[in-house]
Amino acid sequence: MVQRLTRMIGPPQNQPATDVPVLDLYGHTETGSPGRRWPICPRKGHLKFVNPATGAVTTGRCRVLTCHACIWPEALNFGAAIGLAKPRWLGTITQVGFAWPEIQRRMMHFRKVLNRAEVPVEYAWHVEPNPDGTGQHHVHFWAHGNALPKSAVTAAAVASGAGAVADVTPAHVTGDAAEVPTLAYGMKACRPPHAEVTSLWPEARHFLDANGGRLGRTTKGFWRDAAGAPLRTLREAVRMARSEQGRGDWLLSAA
Ligand SMILES: [Zn+2]
Repeated sequence: MVQRLTRMIGPPQNQPATDVPVLDLYGHTETGSPGRRWPICPRKGHLKFVNPATGAVTTGRCRVLTCHACIWPEALNFGAAIGLAKPRWLGTITQVGFAWPEIQRRMMHFRKVLNRAEVPVEYAWHVEPNPDGTGQHHVHFWAHGNALPKSAVTAAAVASGAGAVADVTPAHVTGDAAEVPTLAYGMKACRPPHAEVTSLWPEARHFLDANGGRLGRTTKGFWRDAAGAPLRTLREAVRMARSEQGRGDWLLSAA
């Protein structure tokens, strides 16, 4: 899958595409995970939280996407919520535009064309810059559906002006079927380049701009619980995903 995508859009900018680590930053202890330190939130980092189940300790987060300390934990939460929904397909379209308004317009058109073709598809999507330096962007989308013909995706991409090169591949969510994976592939730019960052780095800033200030978008009806039943909101999906991943509740510590 990664090789095919790399052929289409070039290699990922920050890191090998296979290296999408699943870090539990909320459940991340400063004392218990040597070598995996990440930035402390400047706004809420003075607060201490305890996981009553494990006794682990972590610091607070403001959860604002433009916070250099909080964007990656938020991306991992978003990715966990996508993992909880168990999408069947990972699609890519390759020339979605240069800036968010244009990208948004094309993606709305893209969805309309798919619907008109009676390809019922609900998906979560992220915009990333193409690594060729042209200023163009591509979209990865995690999709539900028994079938998602590549021909239909390509036709919808062409019709919406998003390029003639598209791909669809099974999502191949690996690991134990009962486990909820963190699908952060489309949000690689949100990972801090190192633990000492003190402000948002250019790739993350560009990512937020290209995604209209968010980590990604979803069509109505994308979020699902572990049994496949619809969930209404990202917030609900994140809460359930975190609980399924065994990192649910953290309590504010008085100490
Ligand atoms: Zn923060």
